[in-house]
Amino acid sequence: MHEWALAEAIVDYITKVSSGKKRFKRVTVKLGELQSIDEEILRFSINEILKADGIHVKELRFEKVPAIFRCRNCGYEWSLKDMEMDEEIKELIHFVPEAVHTYFKCPKCGSRDFEIVGGRGVYVVEVIPE
Ligand SMILES: [Zn+2]
Repeated sequence: MHEWALAEAIVDYITKVSSGKKRFKRVTVKLGELQSIDEEILRFSINEILKADGIHVKELRFEKVPAIFRCRNCGYEWSLKDMEMDEEIKELIHFVPEAVHTYFKCPKCGSRDFEIVGGRGVYVVEVIPE
């Protein structure tokens, strides 16, 4: 289970940076748009692990990080929502971000030589003790 492993890593991180504190006002986690994460499952998993570890987090906040692409040819930057695509391709891209190169090209110059500069990965950006 993808979300469960992520949840373990997140709780692990919280434990490490807070030197054993057990009560937190807020924890904020950024989720890349290109990661296929079910937020509800992730939230549930984190809460279960926190409970088992005797840690209390008042507010667990998720923030979506939009996917950003940058053309290596002309430098143009665009986001996933600027592109028109059907649901099937959207799904595929969530599982295999590299597949974007097969389906897209730079909206400005038409080059397929572009990089993904945002929207990948999951990271904890804020751990505020109570
Ligand atoms: Zn371009």
